[in-house]
Amino acid sequence: MIKVGVFGASGRVGKLLLEDLKATADISVSCVYVRNSLDFSIDPSILVTSDMKSFLNASDVIIDFSLPEACETLLEEAIKTPKPLVIGTTGLTPHQLNLLKQASELMPILYATNMSLGIALLNKLVYQASALLKDFDIEIVEMHHKHKKDSPSGTALTLSESAASARNLDIDKVRVSGRDGNVGARTKDEIAVMALRGGDIVGRHTVGFYNDGEFLELNHTATSRNTFSKGAIRAAQWLSQKEAGLYSISNCLEL
Ligand code: NAD
Repeated sequence: MIKVGVFGASGRVGKLLLEDLKATADISVSCVYVRNSLDFSIDPSILVTSDMKSFLNASDVIIDFSLPEACETLLEEAIKTPKPLVIGTTGLTPHQLNLLKQASELMPILYATNMSLGIALLNKLVYQASALLKDFDIEIVEMHHKHKKDSPSGTALTLSESAASARNLDIDKVRVSGRDGNVGARTKDEIAVMALRGGDIVGRHTVGFYNDGEFLELNHTATSRNTFSKGAIRAAQWLSQKEAGLYSISNCLEL
């Protein structure tokens, strides 16, 4: 039985993770990290703690769906008490991403801005389309619920990186995050990544390839957050036996 520590258990994804873990064989929640207290009841056999060391010690693998600052604290503590980490938190700063890379020298870490199979495949397709449709303009639009804090989504940024790397472009130099006013004509290499927010949209990503006379749009829509919680459980099962290193969802899914 794999013992999972859940970080961010009271969040939208975290709550589903607790339910889905209960329904999955050979893996169960051993511990939940809380800042103050839990506002819902939980199986009394699960350790609920605000002590990070106890949290890490009680778990074989940690699944994190929290916020960037919280994820940073988790990484700092895990460097002192290494454990396999499945990180789903998005919006990490360059410093936090460096910390994650540094931590992955001591423990296995799977970092995925999207845990779904469909998005993992979409990343591959975007890479291929970007390389093959050389003259097509690439634009990305993502839509999420009104509570989402980071923008554009981590998934959209990952998709834009796939598109840029297939053309040997540096995404930091070609990404456009808004157009307003007399901005001039579109330049050949720019890749816009635009974010819409509203209602309860779980997540929708469209990567468009536009040319004169035709265009191709690749779209993925998540209709349930269980896609992410179940994907993270599959990742935790896979990661728990791995050596230290930084892994992607594509490694886990063998895509
Ligand atoms: P949420 O706001 O509903 O939940 C955030 C959780 O983090 C809560 O449990 C909160 O208590 C906890 N938290 C906040 N600050 C903390 C701190 N300082 N210490 C400890 N815990 C803290 O958010 P959500 O919608 O569940 O999403 C969580 C994260 O996962 C976001 O970054 C989101 O973008 C990302 N996400 C990733 C995927 C994926 O597949 N990788 C899918 C959906 C969401």
